[in-house]
Amino acid sequence: MSDDFDLVVIGAGPGGYVAAIRGAQLGLKVACIDKRDTLGGTCLNVGCMPSKALLHASHLFEEANHEFEKFGIKATGVKLDLAAMLAHKDNTVTGLTGGIAFLFKKHKIEWLKGTGRFTAKNKIEVALNDGGTRTLTAKNTIIATGSDVANLPGIEIDEKQIVSSTGALSLPKVPKHLVVIGGGVIGLELGSVWRRLGAEVTVVEFMDEVLPGMDGEVRKQFGRILKKQGMTLNLSSKVTEVKKSKSGVKVTFEPVKGGDAQTIDCDVVLVAVGRRPYTHGLGLETVGVAMDDRSRVKTGHDFSTNVPGIWAIGDVIAGPMLAHKAEDEGVACAENIAGLHGVVNHDIIPGVVYTSPEVASVGKTEEELKAAGVAYNVGKFPFLANSRAKANGQTEGFVKILADKTTDRVLGVHIIGADAGNMIAQAATAMEFGASAEDIALTCHAHPTETEAMKEAALAVHGRPIHI
Ligand SMILES: Cc1cc2nc3c(=O)[nH]c(=O)nc-3n(C[C@H](O)[C@H](O)[C@H](O)COP(=O)(O)OP(=O)(O)OC[C@H]3O[C@@H](n4cnc5c(N)ncnc54)[C@H](O)[C@@H]3O)c2cc1C
Repeated sequence: MSDDFDLVVIGAGPGGYVAAIRGAQLGLKVACIDKRDTLGGTCLNVGCMPSKALLHASHLFEEANHEFEKFGIKATGVKLDLAAMLAHKDNTVTGLTGGIAFLFKKHKIEWLKGTGRFTAKNKIEVALNDGGTRTLTAKNTIIATGSDVANLPGIEIDEKQIVSSTGALSLPKVPKHLVVIGGGVIGLELGSVWRRLGAEVTVVEFMDEVLPGMDGEVRKQFGRILKKQGMTLNLSSKVTEVKKSKSGVKVTFEPVKGGDAQTIDCDVVLVAVGRRPYTHGLGLETVGVAMDDRSRVKTGHDFSTNVPGIWAIGDVIAGPMLAHKAEDEGVACAENIAGLHGVVNHDIIPGVVYTSPEVASVGKTEEELKAAGVAYNVGKFPFLANSRAKANGQTEGFVKILADKTTDRVLGVHIIGADAGNMIAQAATAMEFGASAEDIALTCHAHPTETEAMKEAALAVHGRPIHI
């Protein structure tokens, strides 16, 4: 067994495992190290996939209880079997992580289970999970160590009463009252899961609306939708104390601008205040890899660091912490290592919130365009006027297209709607091809589909939607 590799990847998340596969496709001898016993990183093990399995299952439960009737289906005695629902989630994870192991075998990628650390710029020592160490020599190394849960000072996550997203994926019973600290994507997705399963859910968010960073109009309307669904939102509020007691947890928060504090008694608190890049213990200081002011590895457009032969991708570098961004960077980085020209267009990375309705967005928000002094037109079309959405009883939300006032080029698309996560791909494709709103408006969209709302929004950019 040789310890010399063309490419060593540290971290087998969607960035790392994809880079390893692409590197192997390009003829490189590749090893991939991960300290987890299964491949797929945060995304497959404790992120995207288990959360989507629970979102889907809990959505079905809610539909069976509250929505079926309006379609003429009487479902009596619908009961939750939480253990079975969690087992479905676990089986999803097992199947998917096993799938990556199969791909590694197929591409002859050597998988090392252990923790990697640089001892020199081309040497990585791996503390193997089952004991002992192995030192690899690498012509190139990709740091793909991803991110870990962030916390607030003074809060101790025990993954029982005070949980991170990881604990919130496996609560053994439905909490009576769940307080979610942080109204971002992860907090709202997991908050939605437990609300649908019967928990009272209270969100405490520092900013003035949920989903910080998204388009302002989307944030406002989505906040209203969540409240209608029964979530309590405490916006512009900061948590000052989280204290465990015999009966549960007390969460104290106060208005950001100052004012009276409030205390809520609950049985579980989910801390969902973001994630931080995972660079701890990698020996980056030993080899002199430069970091930015937010402890992320600094890279150029080609994903090289300041140290020749060391590259970085995914959550550990700048940009949105999203699996598909990490994957695309993995492909591009492996191609650059192999002497090709891998590129990622960071201006067009879609983002999706998998609640019901979904929220999806790509490109610039109105706020960003205003701040940059770009003149734009807005075209908006509500799902209330879309025939398929009406037939499906899913009329909440809208499609909003922002197009350059002079050139009509599409600069941003923002959707709230049942199928927003799938629909945003069309917008991303159009934008990659430099489409104008007119291009989308002139494209024939199948009827009846929700995508017709995209066409109508594009028509609305020019003041001529048909169905409104
Ligand atoms: C609850 C939740 C839901 C999410 N949902 C979505 C979603 O729907 N869509 C989406 O796009 N994104 C989602 N994300 C974000 C997504 O999971 C991340 O953006 C993505 O996993 C980043 O990929 P990565 O390869 O950079 O790192 P990671 O997936 O974090 O993988 C890094 C791997 O490196 C390993 N590692 C770290 N240090 C070392 C070391 N020294 N030696 C060996 N191994 C090491 C870690 O154990 C980990 O397995 C979600 C995240 C969470 C927490």
